[in-house]
Amino acid sequence: MSWGYDGPNGPAAWDNFKGAGVTGARQSPINIDSKDGTCGALNINYGTEPVQLENIGWTFKAKCGGGSISGGPLSGTYKLDSFHAHWGTAGSDGSEHHLNGKAFSAEMHIVNYNEKYGDFATAASKPDGLAIVAVFMQEGADNPALASVAAGMGSIASKGASGSGGSVDLTGLLPGNKSCHCYEGSLTTPPLTESVTWIVMDEPISVGKGQLDAFRSMKDGAGNALSKNHRPVVPKGGRQITCC
Ligand SMILES: [Zn+2]
Repeated sequence: MSWGYDGPNGPAAWDNFKGAGVTGARQSPINIDSKDGTCGALNINYGTEPVQLENIGWTFKAKCGGGSISGGPLSGTYKLDSFHAHWGTAGSDGSEHHLNGKAFSAEMHIVNYNEKYGDFATAASKPDGLAIVAVFMQEGADNPALASVAAGMGSIASKGASGSGGSVDLTGLLPGNKSCHCYEGSLTTPPLTESVTWIVMDEPISVGKGQLDAFRSMKDGAGNALSKNHRPVVPKGGRQITCC
């Protein structure tokens, strides 16, 4: 039986699905208090990328490449791998992180891996292996940068299906104001590997209700609609939050 977002194998039971070495001390997502911390400026080098979509059973994965991030909380350069999103059943919640106790309609995760490890798979198990830029999305106007991805959902309805996501301007997935909060955390899905430096943007971007509905129309491995796919917030504990 696999993990899910509802029922007996929902988030409360995910300890049964965690990977080797997961201590629970640096789990994600968390609530972020915007008054926390300071750090250096982040450099984001993203452009327009052709993306390949895949239904991975709990979200779409939009595989891309060519971009990178550095600076801020990061040592060295992290190369762009892919992006995916988390959402809820209605526009009132769906983000994984919260900001000052508030949830947003959805959250985009732009996944980057530490280039010193050579490839994503090797980096994914290292404490400094991944850096994920998280962008809150609030239901409102359609986001032009997501148009081709939302349109591609019809071709990846079932788990394992793949198709083109068109050409995506990654800068359109970032807010105008690049101020953000950073901390050491984990993947938010099993195996919950504690390998992620999180870079959470303070300002949300917009996403259309129709775009969210397109995401929700995807099916999981059991053939059920992916109406929600966000892990509840977990304790921050003694971790330090810095901001960029
Ligand atoms: Zn994610």
